[in-house]
Amino acid sequence: MARRAKIYEGKAKILYEGPEPGTVVQYFKDDATAFNAEKKEVIEGKGVLNNRLSEFFMSGLNNIGVPTHFIKRLNMREQLVRNCEIIPLEVVVRNYAAGSISKRLGIEEGTQLPRPVVEYYYKDDSLGDPIVSEEHIAAFNWASSQDMDDILGLALRVNDFLSGVMFSVGIKLVDFKIEIGRFFEGEYQRLLIADEISPDSCRLWDIKSGEKLDKDVFRRDLGSLTDAYTEVANRLGLLPKTNSQIKPTLVR
Ligand code: UDP
Repeated sequence: MARRAKIYEGKAKILYEGPEPGTVVQYFKDDATAFNAEKKEVIEGKGVLNNRLSEFFMSGLNNIGVPTHFIKRLNMREQLVRNCEIIPLEVVVRNYAAGSISKRLGIEEGTQLPRPVVEYYYKDDSLGDPIVSEEHIAAFNWASSQDMDDILGLALRVNDFLSGVMFSVGIKLVDFKIEIGRFFEGEYQRLLIADEISPDSCRLWDIKSGEKLDKDVFRRDLGSLTDAYTEVANRLGLLPKTNSQIKPTLVR
């Protein structure tokens, strides 16, 4: 197949023109970045694992009626997704304190929050993705108040789904980030979950040992990132039993 035109290259993914109008091919790179790309590394196999894991979470969400951009996985590193306009917000849902909320509010990492806390960050690397309030979002017209109601509903449904799936394999969903896309069906706008859902954008802790199975392994130099992601994929039954510890080979 001829290589399609590149639309956009981000830190962890590349978007190419899709085969049909309204579609895009999302390619998962092996690049890992943290601290607004101050720390960078190529981690062989990460893209393959994230492509498979994101497929698993997004198709699970589609199946329970939470709309996502995911259409189908094409190969080890690529998936076909719906083209949509990304709302310039990172939507973070937290069940336990960790990372920036622990620093900002002085809450010890691992403290269970009284209820899921939803936060919004303005997507702008040059500003370091600052946290923003709904006041900012409305004033600068990044999303309407109807959008914000829908986004909150989607974020909490994703949280319930992901928490349940992870809990069933002995993993605590501490927090995660999603991005929301708009797409138009005739004149009607719909919102859907876009980008990716993978251990790059979640905090996942083993329930028993507390071991970290997410990008904090890279951020905090805690060991092998692919081992951690392979462990998550294995527990979810996404890799063959045999050589899965050696190479992230896919099961169809
Ligand atoms: N997150 C992300 N992309 C970002 C910032 C955060 O995927 O640009 C995820 C992060 O992996 C974690 C959650 O959002 O699961 C909350 O991150 P936090 O605000 O604690 O920021 P961090 O500690 O990563 O600076």
